[in-house]
Amino acid sequence: MTEQTGKIIDGKAVAERIKCEIAEEIVKLRSEGIEPCLAVVIVGDDQASRVYVNNKKKACDRVGIKSLEFALPEETSQAELLKLIDKLNADKSVNGILVQLPLPGHIDEKAVIDRIDPSKDVDCFHPYSVGKLFTGSPVFQPCTPSGIMELIKESGTDVRGKDCVVIGRSNIVGKPMAMLLLAANGTVTIAHSKTKNLKRVCKRADILVVAIGKAKFIDDSYVKKGAVVIDVGMDRDEDGKLCGDVDFEKVLPVCGAITPVPGGVGPMTVTMLLKNTLTAAKMASLS
Ligand code: NAP
Repeated sequence: MTEQTGKIIDGKAVAERIKCEIAEEIVKLRSEGIEPCLAVVIVGDDQASRVYVNNKKKACDRVGIKSLEFALPEETSQAELLKLIDKLNADKSVNGILVQLPLPGHIDEKAVIDRIDPSKDVDCFHPYSVGKLFTGSPVFQPCTPSGIMELIKESGTDVRGKDCVVIGRSNIVGKPMAMLLLAANGTVTIAHSKTKNLKRVCKRADILVVAIGKAKFIDDSYVKKGAVVIDVGMDRDEDGKLCGDVDFEKVLPVCGAITPVPGGVGPMTVTMLLKNTLTAAKMASLS
């Protein structure tokens, strides 16, 4: 008898489908003389950041978004970086501004994020964007969490009334994720490193979103039969291979659906950044 397994949610395929829709809209906008443009700022030569920035530029090319790169040396001062942000804020041909994090230690990340014009905050990190999200009228969608909402939809699951558990409370993933699940009428619990009896909390989840940053931390003993499991983690296993926070092999037989790593949440994050840049360009064309 073959072992029953959950459905594997193909993030790459969903991302590709959404990119095609974005590309179609951009062809239309360009025919009206509107050219969506994303400015990407990178400071220093962190290798992982360089890979992320290259991927973002490639994704922009793929859908027809113009991308501008501003690569600044490690020793750039905070004042110099803020001056560049001011210049990009004032430039009408730039629709979205993305500052690749982390920044070097001598620069206050919060001060830099706060300086970005909220109408160009395609990463949805500015306090104004976060406030709009929390009060239920978001301007931009937080990239990783909104990509996850698409993947949950893809699994055929309606969030309404479901028990949703998010492990992790970061500003980038955990907290905005909880807000989107709540907005979709889920009953949401946020768990973290101080949560007591994490297994019991997770075991009641119909939808379990895992954003911890610890390789294969969640195994089948945390998962309710038939649950949708979303693995946000991007970790390395003992052989240095990319893996998630969820032990995929152990969880697959018990879950209803699961995202793989790689090929799950990752491709969605950059896709939602493209979508936000398109939104910013459309908003700017109306103002
Ligand atoms: P983070 O800021 O380090 O937050 C990790 C969260 O996990 C914290 O809230 C922490 O709790 C919690 N945690 C740590 N150990 C725990 C434990 N033993 N039990 C329960 N909770 C625990 O990380 P992040 O930025 O949210 O990212 C999480 C993971 O997602 C990382 O692997 C990152 O690389 C990945 N990621 C992927 C994408 C993508 O596009 N695929 C995007 C963003 C992030 P405390 O708050 O109590 O410390």
